[in-house]
Amino acid sequence: LAAKSHPDHQTVVNLSDKVGFGGTELVIIGGPCTVESAEQMETVAQKLSAAPVQALRGGVYKPRTSPYAFQGMAEDGLEILAQVQSHYNIPVVTEVMAISQIEAIAAHVDMLQVGSRNMQNFDLLKALGQAGKPILLKRGLAATIEEFVMAAEYILSHGNPDVVLCERGIRSFDNYTRNVLDLGAVAVLKQITHLPVIVDPSHAVGKRELVAPLAKAAIACGADGLIIECHPEPEKSVSDARQALSLEDMVNLVHSLKPVAASV
Ligand code: PEP
Ligand code: MN
Repeated sequence: LAAKSHPDHQTVVNLSDKVGFGGTELVIIGGPCTVESAEQMETVAQKLSAAPVQALRGGVYKPRTSPYAFQGMAEDGLEILAQVQSHYNIPVVTEVMAISQIEAIAAHVDMLQVGSRNMQNFDLLKALGQAGKPILLKRGLAATIEEFVMAAEYILSHGNPDVVLCERGIRSFDNYTRNVLDLGAVAVLKQITHLPVIVDPSHAVGKRELVAPLAKAAIACGADGLIIECHPEPEKSVSDARQALSLEDMVNLVHSLKPVAASV
């Protein structure tokens, strides 16, 4: 179901009547790693919606490496996301980690993200076939392209045609960057599937000063969009502080990407 049937076959996954992945416009998702407060998300929404960034992100169920680290605001965070979505008329995306969370998340946001650590959680993928909302599927930490496409196939074959693939870097031997952004995979996925493909340079590189060059390269490779972490006070982010852009840098980056997108 994920395979291209002819060279021009391209699915558009719509989040609203204005925002669609895989169409002619690049779609940029911005926001913090974690939803921390209503004030934080209001500030983010206000700055980014004017940029314009087309959708907001923010985790409320967080897959933290340590069980002692903050695990997310859960339902309170969903309320905050729904609030900024309606105040700023902007779609919102958040991660789903368990089947039991699907109903509440789908009731509050426009797109459900499957994180790297759950890319092969097959029961979750099957259940998301019935979520009734678009899915942002992130590549597993060490998944092959074949495994990635088959994970999408689980969602598609269980009834949900709206899947967006996200390359977010894979593990390798060099830990100077957090992961290794596989731009080759972006080019491959654009050729073999009709699904929109976006790139997460933030989790790929893990350092804020390296996000912009990877974002530009992703667009040049044919990505349909980007998901980028940013925060009103980056150093104070409760998670992934090292890779968070300031809101000012985020807005500047969005503007600098326009000519790159126009040249592809
Ligand atoms: C995230 O987007 O905050 C996240 C946890 O990403 P990944 O699943 O790619 O590590
Ligand atoms: Mn993060």
